[in-house]
Amino acid sequence: MAISWCDGGDTDEECAVESSIDISDLPDLPRRGQAFWTEPFMGICVVGVLSTILIALTYGATAGAEATPVTGLGQIALTLIWAEAGVAVLSTLYLLFGNAGVVQRSEKTCYPIPSEVESLIKQQRTLDGLKNIPAGQDHPMHDSYCVRCCLWRPRNAGKVHHCNVCQRCVTGFDHHCGVFGRCIVRANMPCFLANIGMMFAGMVTAMMALMSSGAVVQEQGM
Ligand SMILES: [Zn+2]
Ligand SMILES: [Zn+2]
Repeated sequence: MAISWCDGGDTDEECAVESSIDISDLPDLPRRGQAFWTEPFMGICVVGVLSTILIALTYGATAGAEATPVTGLGQIALTLIWAEAGVAVLSTLYLLFGNAGVVQRSEKTCYPIPSEVESLIKQQRTLDGLKNIPAGQDHPMHDSYCVRCCLWRPRNAGKVHHCNVCQRCVTGFDHHCGVFGRCIVRANMPCFLANIGMMFAGMVTAMMALMSSGAVVQEQGM
């Protein structure tokens, strides 16, 4: 069912002024799913354990070898492995705390409140069971109204999705990652890919360090 998205004012601002419900008086945002809090431990463990192992391997193969000078290649490997671990940790932090793609409540996104939602809120009744409300084909900005987040999701912002774990609407949705416990969207996709990339880069770096130390041992053996 499409609603008339502005009865009375010509702009969203005029509509916002007409609504008697303040943003702070809207129902609380939905509670996060249990997995939102538990899944990130897996991601933190994977990044932490892999980083530690790969750094230790690289150190063992270069600086760790007794009385052998660190070769040029070894030095590069040491610098690289720390940089790669750094990128992985920063990417993980952004994935966990960046709130990427989450549609926030604001004057622009909250108003006009659809009439059926507004009357239920005024009667202090639950919105459970209500279906999301399409804005109509002709609306320039809004796509549909999420009755759980109580906001209008934007048009032309990629796939818009209300995640059942994160319990928020996100734009540019790709998938919910069960390892990091967050939605992977257009905005944090580079971090997600960087994390996977750093895992392979770290393995190559550690391998390079092991090979360079092997070369030193061979030279000394000759
Ligand atoms: Zn939502
Ligand atoms: Zn999610």
